Amino acid sequence: MADDGAPGGDRGPGLDTTLTDADIESNWDHVCETFDDMGLDENLLRGIFAYGFEKPSAIQQRGTMPLIKGRDTIAQAQSGTGKTAAFSIGCLQRIDLNEKDCQALLLAPTRELAQQIQKVVLALGDYMGITCHACIGGTNVRDDIRKVEAGQQVVVGTPGRVHDMINRRALRTDGMKIFVLDEADEMLSRGFKDQIYDVFKFLPSKVQVGLFSATMPIEVLEITRHFMRDPVRILVKKDELTLEGIKQFYIAIDREDWKLDTLCDLYETLTITQAIIYVNTRRKVDWLLEKMTSRDFTVSALHGDMDQKGRELIMREFRSGSSRVLITTDLLARGIDVQQVSLVINYDLPSNRENYIHRIGRSGRFGRKGVAINFVTGDDVRNMRDIEQFYNTQIEEMPMNVADLI
Ligand code: ADP
Repeated sequence: MADDGAPGGDRGPGLDTTLTDADIESNWDHVCETFDDMGLDENLLRGIFAYGFEKPSAIQQRGTMPLIKGRDTIAQAQSGTGKTAAFSIGCLQRIDLNEKDCQALLLAPTRELAQQIQKVVLALGDYMGITCHACIGGTNVRDDIRKVEAGQQVVVGTPGRVHDMINRRALRTDGMKIFVLDEADEMLSRGFKDQIYDVFKFLPSKVQVGLFSATMPIEVLEITRHFMRDPVRILVKKDELTLEGIKQFYIAIDREDWKLDTLCDLYETLTITQAIIYVNTRRKVDWLLEKMTSRDFTVSALHGDMDQKGRELIMREFRSGSSRVLITTDLLARGIDVQQVSLVINYDLPSNRENYIHRIGRSGRFGRKGVAINFVTGDDVRNMRDIEQFYNTQIEEMPMNVADLI
């Protein structure tokens, strides 16, 4: 993050102040127990019920109203608890349907996640006749320009393509009222923050900002003070971040070479419903795909070096359930919502502890049961104990009857 050149520099206290305890605690406890009580547009309400939601989840009961009221909002909630609808409903309610221009800009770290969010916005906003486009890399730029110029009230995208669309003056920013970062801590981390600021610079100075994620490390809270105005904060203590419904286990494996056999032994368990297997590099995804396939196990794989069409096909097959086991990297650690996934395997432990929470949270969506199994070599023991300690959670040795827990 640029130390001084932060856009919206008039927005918060300067760098000289340090965080106090109050800054890392929630400051908002208003609860709206039903969707009816939110004062929503009638057609938005119809869209919500038609989508199958009856009652707002905890984060929707707390996090949606501040957005509707125009407040800058930092909202943290455990994985799979409905953050997408929390901010989508907030954004939709802020849209003036008489205006065709973009009024809400939502950014996500991956193409897959941006497309998923777009589908939720379109579904919830169906009866409003909302227009919403996903601006993501790997797709035809001319098509994107044409669609954006036609007028999209909501744009969901990845930072690079969205920046490009703004730069080309295809995406007009004058009418933007609300800017939401999903997976905000990732978006404001080293890999992304400059790109986010490049976009933010184009937005009207009074634009409302919403940040959502299951993890909100203190460094992120610190930097939000440079571009958020008196934000509502809804935060979760780190020892309350793991979900009761997701059981976490480890398998001690003496040597890296033996992980493959262990995974093959587990294959039947993997296919009970659906499973995601995480490794730490793209090359290892390809390698594991090849090894499993040559042993006649059916698996699919997705990583960031694949072309967009291939990525979309693999996601479609996995979402539809026609493929049941997906090998991937941290590309799909965050946000992806496939309700049938009940098992996550960390073939490699993640290199950052936030992504541990996000990875295991791909199972156990919205109160379902989930199981996470960590493959742990001697070198990993310390890392695993660190994770346990940091989140005050237990990772136990995998029991024989693990299949019964899925
Ligand atoms: P998060 O972003 O918090 O990880 P999602 O927004 O992906 O979680 O939601 C997880 C799942 O819960 C989705 O399948 C979503 O459709 C479902 N869901 C969200 N809110 C509700 C609700 N109020 N009632 C029923 N299901 C919900």
